[in-house]
Amino acid sequence: MCLDIDDTLLDNEASSRQALRALVGNDGAWPVWRRTTEEHYARFVEGEIDFDVMCTERTRAFFAAFGEHLSDTEAARREDVRMAAMQRAWGLFDDARPCLDWLRAAGLRLAVITNAPSDYQRKKIAAIGLADAFDAVVISGEVGVAKPDAGIFAAACARLGLEPHEVAHVGDRLDTDAVGARDAGLRGIWLNRAGKRRPAPEGVHVITSLRQLPELLVCDLEPAGA
Ligand SMILES: [Mg+2]
Repeated sequence: MCLDIDDTLLDNEASSRQALRALVGNDGAWPVWRRTTEEHYARFVEGEIDFDVMCTERTRAFFAAFGEHLSDTEAARREDVRMAAMQRAWGLFDDARPCLDWLRAAGLRLAVITNAPSDYQRKKIAAIGLADAFDAVVISGEVGVAKPDAGIFAAACARLGLEPHEVAHVGDRLDTDAVGARDAGLRGIWLNRAGKRRPAPEGVHVITSLRQLPELLVCDLEPAGA
C-alpha cells in the first residue's frame, strides 16, 4: 500500500493557513496564497526551479499580488518567518494514525510516494512521528521523477518487492495520485476529502476519509466469487 503525504496524511492546508496568519496576521488571503502555490509548486515539480527558490519566489509573488514589491533580502526574511510557523503547525489528520495502524495490523507493506525535495520531506515525516511508519519512503527529489510519472510508482513497487497490480496508492490529487497510479498499473484511490463533485475516471476508486480505506481494501482484496 502506498500513500501520499501532503493533504493525505498531513493536514497541509491547516499548517499553511497557520503560516499565512503568522505572515500577515490572518488567512483572509488564503485563495491568493493557494493560487500562487499552485503556480510556483508546478515549476518546482517540473524541475524548473529548486525548492528554496520556489519558496522565496512564491512569497514574493504573494505580496506582489497586493502591490508590495519585496527586495531579495526581505522576501527571504518573510519566507523564513512563514516556514518556521508552518513547521511548528505540521500535524496529521485525525484519521491518519488509525488508518496506518490498521494497514500495519493487516500485514500490508507500506510506502510513501511524495513529490518534494528530499531533506525537507524527510524532516517533515520525522516531525509528524512517521519516521518508522513505512517500509519505503519514495521522494521525487531522490528518484528524479515525480508523480504522475509512472517511474516513481514503479520505484515504490520495486522497493516493496511487489508487482504494480499488487499495490494500491491513495492520495488527495485525482490526476497526480489516483490517475497516475492507475496508469502505472496500480490500484488508484482518490482521497476526496472535500467531497468535490467530480466524476471519478474509470478504474479509480474514491473515498472521502481514510476511515473508508480498510473497507475498500477488504472488499477489493476478496477473492473473485468469494
Ligand atoms: Mg498530496
